Amino acid sequence: MASSSNSPHATATGGAPSAYARTLDCVHCGLCLPVCPTYQVLGVEADSPRGRIYLMRALAEGRVQDPNAIRPFLDRCLDCRACETACPSGVRYGEILETTRGQMETAQPRRGLAAWLTKFLLWHVVARQRRLRVAFALLRTAEVLGLRWLATKLRLIPPAIAQIAPTVPPGAARRPLPTGLHKPPANVRARGVRTALFTGCIMEPMFGRVNRATLQVLLANGFDVDVPAAQRCCGALLVHAGQPDRARELARANVAAFADADVVINNSAGCGCAMKEYGHLVGDAAAAAFAAKCRDVSEFLAEVGLTATPAECRMRAAYDDPCHLCHGQGVRAQPRQLLAQVPGLELVAHRNPEDCCGSAGIYNLLQPELAVEIGRRKIESLAAAGVDLVLTGNPGCMLQIDSHLRRTGHKTRVLHPIELLLPPT
Ligand code: SF4
Ligand code: SF4
Repeated sequence: MASSSNSPHATATGGAPSAYARTLDCVHCGLCLPVCPTYQVLGVEADSPRGRIYLMRALAEGRVQDPNAIRPFLDRCLDCRACETACPSGVRYGEILETTRGQMETAQPRRGLAAWLTKFLLWHVVARQRRLRVAFALLRTAEVLGLRWLATKLRLIPPAIAQIAPTVPPGAARRPLPTGLHKPPANVRARGVRTALFTGCIMEPMFGRVNRATLQVLLANGFDVDVPAAQRCCGALLVHAGQPDRARELARANVAAFADADVVINNSAGCGCAMKEYGHLVGDAAAAAFAAKCRDVSEFLAEVGLTATPAECRMRAAYDDPCHLCHGQGVRAQPRQLLAQVPGLELVAHRNPEDCCGSAGIYNLLQPELAVEIGRRKIESLAAAGVDLVLTGNPGCMLQIDSHLRRTGHKTRVLHPIELLLPPT
């Protein structure tokens, strides 16, 4: 058995069961296997949820001594949590995985250039809004000058990554959303709720238009919207990379930055899911109270009701569920309920709306071959629906689906659902 202070047997922060205790909830029924994207592609037990839980339990019990022996199987997991939805025993797979990754990173940190670069980028660039904005501006310039094309030709970018690495949308990374308190227009009935908008690390520089649409929709529906200047990255990518201490630092900063808000609004499913789990991550009452007031924007608007009718949109659209919204937060009906109120919009179902698209944070860059295959299956399902628009509420999913659609010659546009809730101008 593991005996260090990092032992998985230790009680988790806040008195919750440890990750090891959570592995014991698995009764090995296998009902999660058919929904697991990596098991669907690879067909290997160790690349299934049940197999991974078995491996993590074996590590915790000391039956596996070397974390590197199980690392490739955990690295191939998207942390999509489809297995949690399928599991009849309520196994908290995400919690087990993220805790184990953190313990492995502490016990035996990854070495080499790729590991160093990943850690450097996550902490010194992604988690710092200004630097990230500059990085996207440089990337965009490189794309315009054809440097990306040249780097691909010279094979400086691995071919598997080159074919799916998303491009920076034109107009991205220009000006940040104005911070401070925004009030509804004088002709709109105020609802007396002070919301605060989380703008996200990737959402703002890549899809600033989504943050602007979220702000406009909330104001048009009568809500005060604060955009706190002191907010930081949510820390989800750091948790996934096994660096919970750094994620906790960001979480504490966000708890303080949003202290005055009645409701914290998120339009990025991955960030929203991570922020709803701050109680577990930080383990104090303030973080738990913060987590309790976090809402996805669709969840909030469906709960309070739209008072501003959205502009007409005569198009055929499919809604695709981001994993961290449907599996991570249990939000499925709300975006569909809101989209049903868009005049003229024909919302059609497609085959696998809850299957992962293969984006999963930076998974598509770390596991490009698997991400391509998982993405291909998603596009097949969307293409069969024959739609003009794909709607999904997470920046990573928007980039991944858009990149696959372009690569396969489809003209379908990808938008965030909030963009269709804007009232007529
Ligand atoms: S989180 Fe997703 S990829 Fe990982 S084991 Fe569960 S279903 Fe499979
Ligand atoms: S469905 Fe749940 S209990 Fe069954 S094998 Fe998967 S994780 Fe274990």
